[in-house]
Amino acid sequence: MSLQSPASKRWSIKDSARTYNLDNWGDDLFSINKNGNMCVHPSSNAKQSIDLRVLVDDLIKRKIKPPILLRFMDVLQRRIASIYQVFKHAIAENDYPAKYQTFYPIKVNQQRQVVEAIVRYGKRYNIGLEVGSKPELIAGISFSTGKGLPIICNGYKDSEYIETVLYATKIGYDITLVVEKLFELEKIIELSKKTGIMPKLGIRVKLSSKGTGKWATSGGEDAKFGLRMSEIIAAIRMLEEQGMVECVKLMHSHIGSQITKIDKIKTALIEAARVYTEMRKLGVGIEFLDIGGGLGVDYDGSKSSYFSSVNYTIAEYANDVIYQIKSICDEAGVQCPNIISESGRATVAHYSVMVTNVLNTDTLSLMPDFEEMLNQSEKVAPTVKKLLDIYKSIDRYSLREDYHDTMQLISEAVSLFNLGYLTLKDRAIAEWLYAKIIVKINGLLEKFKPIPEEMQNFKLHLRQTYFANFSLFQSIPDSWAIDQLFPIMPIQRLDQKPDVMASIADITCDSDGEITSFVGTNGRTKYLPLHKISKDDDYYIGFFLIGAYQEILGDLHNLFGDTNAVHITFDNKTGYMIDTVINGDATQDTLKYVQYKGSEILKHVRDNLEKNIVSKKITIEESSHFVELLDRMLMGYTYLVE
Ligand SMILES: *Cc1c(COP(=O)(O)O)cnc(C)c1O
Repeated sequence: MSLQSPASKRWSIKDSARTYNLDNWGDDLFSINKNGNMCVHPSSNAKQSIDLRVLVDDLIKRKIKPPILLRFMDVLQRRIASIYQVFKHAIAENDYPAKYQTFYPIKVNQQRQVVEAIVRYGKRYNIGLEVGSKPELIAGISFSTGKGLPIICNGYKDSEYIETVLYATKIGYDITLVVEKLFELEKIIELSKKTGIMPKLGIRVKLSSKGTGKWATSGGEDAKFGLRMSEIIAAIRMLEEQGMVECVKLMHSHIGSQITKIDKIKTALIEAARVYTEMRKLGVGIEFLDIGGGLGVDYDGSKSSYFSSVNYTIAEYANDVIYQIKSICDEAGVQCPNIISESGRATVAHYSVMVTNVLNTDTLSLMPDFEEMLNQSEKVAPTVKKLLDIYKSIDRYSLREDYHDTMQLISEAVSLFNLGYLTLKDRAIAEWLYAKIIVKINGLLEKFKPIPEEMQNFKLHLRQTYFANFSLFQSIPDSWAIDQLFPIMPIQRLDQKPDVMASIADITCDSDGEITSFVGTNGRTKYLPLHKISKDDDYYIGFFLIGAYQEILGDLHNLFGDTNAVHITFDNKTGYMIDTVINGDATQDTLKYVQYKGSEILKHVRDNLEKNIVSKKITIEESSHFVELLDRMLMGYTYLVE
């Protein structure tokens, strides 16, 4: 059921931008072009753009099927540059006498091609990598050939981890081993003595300051990582005894991801800078102050301290970091450290967009003509009759009462049906009338300004489920796991009024696989305005700002695998260039994760088919067609392909 538009004033792309709050979360990276399509801007020159719908159509012509993860490499480059620039600016502004460096924490997205690109683009900004486990260490080492790409090692470490870092140090890697726990330091000292290799060390400090939002417990006294103040004193003593105190070059702190409030960041910075100055005074030659991650992304564009948003900009963040650290150091008469931030989310959230098709679920043409059915009925059940009367007579004055009556009648219809007093046909007609009344009420509501309080939630009755070809659990798991908001919007027809209120269901068999919270004009809304889909036109929706954490946290629910991914760069002549196409998982790949072998399955089915050929249940042709189908599916995409 679509909503009747009121004697409609013309809908413009500006109206769409407002509806999806685009200007507030899209920065100067995304906009709507005059054809009503979403586009991406590779530079601050607004004239340069890539039309998303045109791009997707072209990809489909190349047989790259949705869902497609689009990685806009120019956007990635812009974000890396922006973070560096705001710090550079803050350093100049505050006459800060040392340098800034970003270390990309690879846990945010470890895909090789992504890290490769970050390393390539980041070279001119001296970007480094942060790793937090043995597999990540190996990934990090694979990109680095020595001093060119520094690495910081966090996370719990065993002897293997530590020894690997020691030998990497010996062959010239610039690699810092961050001490997370006192017992780790014991192991490090022991292995350093054994191998005769002096490591470059960092000390992670457990601040009493906490972040805000979902990840607040990464900081504070209860944090999993870091040394308490007493443990720092113990660590310094242990290192002094071994003549290793000059190995300590870095102090690290991290109070959590997506810190929503700038004042929490300031408090943590002051505490971290204080610890730094005190450690310097104790004779520890720290050169780098690593302030960890936490730089947040304004996913819903509300500029608030709500957890899908942040109440500050990256420029404000950089300015506060530099200013606070400088003030504390100046006050203590201690040399200012070089500053490192491990900004993962803020670096990669923006550059990837997932696009997928909405399945056409319009069944209107398949429905019988209930009106005629009603006219031909000799005896109309009283409940149905009452609903029909409401439908005919409802107007703006009777609206509220009729609404209440309708709700009551529809539940009455169910009871009567269960008791055997209403036929299936009558119940179907009641259901059909209910839908028509709801549409009519909505048409009437459009004329109310403001909409009466009670009626605001009413709109939810109109919400239709749009099925989209993707798995929420694979592609945007945080939407499910922590109810995080991501901007979602159609990538075409944005010059037309979206007159359906929708929720987005994925194709997993999980009732949790549905998105019912969206970014709207005034923050969170419970439905997404979408267009009525026509049979002959494909309709695509884009999921934005999903570059951080989503890919690696995504899981194989229902064995839906990785989506196809495409790296795109802007090209002045042709509009865009496709750098890399990374095929999504084939069905046999996801089956393999759970220990099935495609070849064995085929053999099993073949054996079975042969028996059926012998008993003449199936012809040889049918049998080979079956095998072909299975084979094609095993090799093919896990998502819907037509
Ligand atoms: C997760 C993590 C980060 C990344 O945090 P963001 O908020 O994504 O920037 C940085 N440092 C450490 C130690 C982390 O654990």
